[in-house]
Amino acid sequence: MTKDSIALLQNYIDEASLIAFFGGAGVSTESGIPDYRSPEGTYSEMEKRDLDPEVLMSKRYLLQHPEDFFERRRREKAAKPVYPNAAHRYLADLEQAGKDVRIITQNVDGLHQTAGSRYVLELHGTDRYWYCMECERHFSYEELAYDERGIPRCHIDQGIIRPAVVYFGEHPDRRLLEKSRETIRKADLLIIAGTSLTVNPAKNLIRRFNGDRVVVVNTEPIDTGKLPVDLFIQHPIGEIFSQLEVNQPKSSRR
Ligand SMILES: [Zn+2]
Repeated sequence: MTKDSIALLQNYIDEASLIAFFGGAGVSTESGIPDYRSPEGTYSEMEKRDLDPEVLMSKRYLLQHPEDFFERRRREKAAKPVYPNAAHRYLADLEQAGKDVRIITQNVDGLHQTAGSRYVLELHGTDRYWYCMECERHFSYEELAYDERGIPRCHIDQGIIRPAVVYFGEHPDRRLLEKSRETIRKADLLIIAGTSLTVNPAKNLIRRFNGDRVVVVNTEPIDTGKLPVDLFIQHPIGEIFSQLEVNQPKSSRR
């Protein structure tokens, strides 16, 4: 069954001229980043301890409890380093081979870029750089200097330096959303992977799709609303993508 599914997916990819890849936390789990909405995820852990993730991962919490907020970020960063998996690498290789692959991700880990992908829209921002909330100067994590309370401060104006992540209660960048809509609208193949589509604006975005084929690769069935799914593969994405071939795009289609 899975063998047939992989052959079909290969065929869809080979035939497509513009692939939109819409990915969520499940794309990074095989890199060792827990999917916070899965039963073993960090958010579920927090919920068990009566700590609401929507509170802890919000701008309000950052401003009201900066010591705890930044302590949590330091603990995350101190965890073992993560690397792109077969899914990140396949998409990057495909683009490198000349395929028009455009990635829209809900992840903030930057693993698509680490793998070499160049068209990546990060709906929830990125953890790869931090910025001063006063002057908006950018800093890398390694450049941060902390005050006596453990809060990273800008050396120019003493503003708090925070991750460029879109937290709960914050909204994705408008131009980025517009570009994401446009990308999905123009694609002829849409691959939805590793996401339950429950976090906004996921469901609204995929509704824009107007192309030929929709593929879902996820460990759980998901609700795509009115969007019909041509192929559903219930499996971790890295294991699936590691079995695909990188074929040169057909020049006649360009
Ligand atoms: Zn500043």
